Amino acid sequence: MLGMSIAKRLGLSIVFVSLSLVAPNAQAWDGHESIVSALQPELNHLGFPVSGYEAVLRHVGDPDNGMDANLDDSWDPLDERKWMGGTKGPTSAGFRHMYFGGWQIAHPIATFQIPIKAIGQAPERVAENATHAKHLLKAALNAESRADGFKKLGWSFHYAQDLAQPFHSVQVLTPRMIPWKELLAWPPKRGFGNLVREATRTVSNYHWAYEGYVRHRLRMADSGVLQKCLAQSKVYANLELEDVHSPKELAYAVSRASVRLGPKLGGAVIEFFGKDLMSPDYDLPNGKGHLDYSALATRADVKEHRAKLEEVTCAALANAAQATLWLAKWALR
Ligand SMILES: [Zn+2]
Repeated sequence: MLGMSIAKRLGLSIVFVSLSLVAPNAQAWDGHESIVSALQPELNHLGFPVSGYEAVLRHVGDPDNGMDANLDDSWDPLDERKWMGGTKGPTSAGFRHMYFGGWQIAHPIATFQIPIKAIGQAPERVAENATHAKHLLKAALNAESRADGFKKLGWSFHYAQDLAQPFHSVQVLTPRMIPWKELLAWPPKRGFGNLVREATRTVSNYHWAYEGYVRHRLRMADSGVLQKCLAQSKVYANLELEDVHSPKELAYAVSRASVRLGPKLGGAVIEFFGKDLMSPDYDLPNGKGHLDYSALATRADVKEHRAKLEEVTCAALANAAQATLWLAKWALR
């Protein structure tokens, strides 16, 4: 690609550094409750008391409500926030809700990221909360500590479900989301600055549009396709659980499964939402532009693209469900 080679000459890295500063939002599925409620029969089957299920449902969304934002520097000893949303505001929570597993030479495009080492605390958040939950539920000192155990378990579900959303496990799903034409400006330095700003905006637009659409779809009365992926998650997941023996290993396995879905989701997202989201009329995280999700969910002219998007989303949601059930089983064991 011409754009790519120009970018390489200019130093592609700066694009992605700046991209990662602003692009992430910490909402992931924006519908963690939908995932948990679809799993109610299976959680009941695992021995969840009604109060435990209700506590998990009530708290699974907590981590997106500010508790991970604007943290003191001591919580970020590796200084990862500079790559993953900055240290202030809602995006400063991102480093605890994502994990980019590092650049792999065998998959140079699918895993391209800056820095090339693994970054993000989501696996630690899964492990710490699940372990804490297991201790509390085992000790069962009193109703209060049991309730706290289910709350922590709900939090561990949250971070694992986030990792099942490929935008949270891959920094740039496809180079097609980058508006390379910005590089044609003169002088090159100006073109480069434009590219950085515009790439941040376009990737964020696709991220927001995707999450908004999935949320809308899950809430529709006829959400059969995606509900089925949650209810029969074992059939649709691409998560490999054979070698998973701990919550942290689970988190890494979920992230790897997301990386495998990344390129397909990246292509599907662009085709479904179209190139419009690259236009200056859209800056969804900042309230500019509007998407009609109801129309997108039913329009005949995007039927094929919708099917492709929903197929890969099916696998991602199924991974989220499988990870949730694995953690529930582990914590109650
Ligand atoms: Zn989150």
